[in-house]
Amino acid sequence: MKKYQYLFFDVDDTLLDFRHTEKRALERLFEQENIVLTDDIKGDYHRFNKGLWHAHERGEIGKEELLNTRFTEFFRLHGKQVDGLTMERSYRNFLSEGHEQLDGALSLIQQLSTQYDLFIMTNGVAQTQNRRLRDSGLFPYFKNIFISEETGFHKPMKAYFDYCFQRIDQFNCGKALIIGDSLVADIKGGLAAGMDACWMNVAKVANDTDITPTYEINKLVELLPILERREFIDS
Ligand SMILES: [Mg+2]
Repeated sequence: MKKYQYLFFDVDDTLLDFRHTEKRALERLFEQENIVLTDDIKGDYHRFNKGLWHAHERGEIGKEELLNTRFTEFFRLHGKQVDGLTMERSYRNFLSEGHEQLDGALSLIQQLSTQYDLFIMTNGVAQTQNRRLRDSGLFPYFKNIFISEETGFHKPMKAYFDYCFQRIDQFNCGKALIIGDSLVADIKGGLAAGMDACWMNVAKVANDTDITPTYEINKLVELLPILERREFIDS
């Protein structure tokens, strides 16, 4: 008997290459605003934005506030005054156009969809994520797409996991696995909700947290042998 039936996938840096999408969107935004984008500014923005999302995961900042103030704040730190709201709107548009997959995500998802019930759980903005999932071709292979914005909760909140579980017929948490790149949002959240959790660690970074994923993979394809493990029941 297969150990897992329900697979929950995070989107960014798990199925789709958000680093690439973000880089392109930022380049296009700076081009539009006639601001020179140096490697230093790119790195600074990346760290600044990541810090904001981690604060959001910890419940310290709301998503609307994050999105509506990040460019104003970022440029204020660099001594420049900008219309952060307008910039955010353009940036969001550029982001929604990026849907590069992480190594073979689509074919893996196609293959898994014939044997498992697949779901998306993402802490993104609904319009952006829906478009990226459709454009990448991933959308039809999922039984349901849970986007935090549409639920009022976000990962790692247990309420978000419960919201998703309640919308799946005959759901059994013991047969569920979440796959994601964020140790806090995906792994800690999934484990606390009662399911197993597989850490997608593409960059092979050290885990300096006290969070222990059930599995760790560096490539999506490494998920296959994990899923093929059987659960033997004593007869
Ligand atoms: Mg992610």
